[in-house]
Amino acid sequence: MSDLDHVLRPPLPWRQDRMSECGRAEPQQAITREEFVQRVRQHGQKRAAMTTCMTCWETTERWPSWETDPVGAIAREFYGRHGRARDSDRLRDELRAIAALVEEHRDEFDGYLTGLAQTSSLDQHRRQRRRVAAR
Ligand SMILES: [Zn+2]
Repeated sequence: MSDLDHVLRPPLPWRQDRMSECGRAEPQQAITREEFVQRVRQHGQKRAAMTTCMTCWETTERWPSWETDPVGAIAREFYGRHGRARDSDRLRDELRAIAALVEEHRDEFDGYLTGLAQTSSLDQHRRQRRRVAAR
């Protein structure tokens, strides 16, 4: 059974430790989420299932990465296994550290948020123009 491949859990951006989705494999023995998706695409679900840890597979499908959905990635920390935070002390410390960093760099933080808001309103504007042009 040890010849099954595990899938790396996409980390929160401030975390430097790596682990497999199931937590049972050494990170260097696990494939990335992108490699997993590629495997399923290339070999199909049935064949890929014969070589992939099912716990890793199900967890990969259940939880988004930070890149695709930061809110979902944080939700995993809260509601992961059994609907309660598994590692709440760690997350609590991390959130306090993030808040302290924001306080120290308030102007940069606000400027970054303004930039994100402008980018998203620019995207919205472009989508609207495309919709009007398509009529
Ligand atoms: Zn696994």
